Amino acid sequence: MAALQLPNDPMTDPSAEELIALRPWLKHDAMNGLLLDGVPLAGIADEVGTPTWVYSAETMRSRYKALAGAMADAGLAVHIHYAVKANDSRAVLSLFATQGAGADVVSGGELLKARRASFPASNIVYSGVGKSPAELSLALREDIGQINVESAEELDMLSALATAQNRTARVALRVNPDVDAGTNDKITTGRATDKFGIPYSDAIALYAVAASLPGIQPIGLATHIGSQILDIAPYRNAFARIAQLVHALREKGHRIETVDCGGGLGIPYRNDPSPSPAALAAAMKQTFHGLDVRLAIEPGRWLVGPAGLLLASVVLVKRTALDPFIVLDAAMNDLVRPAMYDAWHGIVPIAAKDAVAPARLFSVVGPVCESGDTFARSRSLPTLAAGARVAILDAGAYGAVMSSTYNARPLAAEVWVDQCRWSTIRDRQSIEEQWARERLPT
Ligand SMILES: *Cc1c(COP(=O)(O)O)cnc(C)c1O
Repeated sequence: MAALQLPNDPMTDPSAEELIALRPWLKHDAMNGLLLDGVPLAGIADEVGTPTWVYSAETMRSRYKALAGAMADAGLAVHIHYAVKANDSRAVLSLFATQGAGADVVSGGELLKARRASFPASNIVYSGVGKSPAELSLALREDIGQINVESAEELDMLSALATAQNRTARVALRVNPDVDAGTNDKITTGRATDKFGIPYSDAIALYAVAASLPGIQPIGLATHIGSQILDIAPYRNAFARIAQLVHALREKGHRIETVDCGGGLGIPYRNDPSPSPAALAAAMKQTFHGLDVRLAIEPGRWLVGPAGLLLASVVLVKRTALDPFIVLDAAMNDLVRPAMYDAWHGIVPIAAKDAVAPARLFSVVGPVCESGDTFARSRSLPTLAAGARVAILDAGAYGAVMSSTYNARPLAAEVWVDQCRWSTIRDRQSIEEQWARERLPT
């Protein structure tokens, strides 16, 4: 029997060298320590302070090109809609808009951010179980390309709003295919018990309703089965279920122009085997080839996750009877994924001298008053002095966007590296900004 892979097992954890080797945008330099696209991270930390998010623009661009290339190589004309919620920084959105991507948004705020970043309205898809009347009205006013409707109730609401505004909504029904994506419970979305999408068995009847409602133009189907998916099999299952629906709907005389295959492609946080874009393309081709539909995908994490890291400093190392604690100045309010999903992130020392120092096991924690404020347990690291810097890897997706100001901690700065130069793309929040909107009761 294969050895069980525990999430915090130092025996199977990849080493810093192995993590860096699999991420060509990172290099360890004997003089300058860890570099991101040739830029020393220590220099950024010196100037901007820590905690700070640092993104590689070139990595985002090349990942977009790799994904688009894999689809083209499979002979598929696939529209890529970047899932804005993974990283909604203006610089990041502009980068993908410039590459020709569309945007997948899940709120009115994201819709406005996408428009501000110059995504054409016709390339915006809006998903979500609870779009408010105000948000749906905004989508209608902006005349976005597609609204993914997730319930009969939403369909009625949208029809009424569209009719009142004298507009037509292009609608895809987001169908819940009832497959288990095999990912973390909190980010699986395609099981019958999850809140997302229209129950599979209701889809045909609801499509007929959509076709009959004023202000609604049904254009196809959408699905999204979850996030951080590391196996192609659930995709295959979901796509097969959607293809069956396309046939059944066409037999009833409905027009199906588009199939939106959702996002969810996983990344190798722990250097674990993960599916390639080519494997996703092959699954799409196998199921939808010859079906004569316009195909779309909605990747977020895969495009931006590996391209970002969270730069942090050691506040102190606290010795205990068990593994000592490395206490960082970054915390769960910055990067919540370890606390929320038990997520594993690589943690790599920045300084050249730390890279070669002897290692032992540590817990790596933040200063927030929660035991869940733990980035790693039993992690093999060199003994770091106060002030030493580390990079928490693969933090480009669901990092800064999920930050909070818990413990009155300011939102961290964001920095972007491009063509061997770096610039700040969001200033660190000040404490005055945090309390600026508060009032004492009258
Ligand atoms: C979150 C989400 C995505 C993106 O998921 P990733 O795992 O980041 O690729 C795509 N589509 C919808 C509807 C989503 O909610």
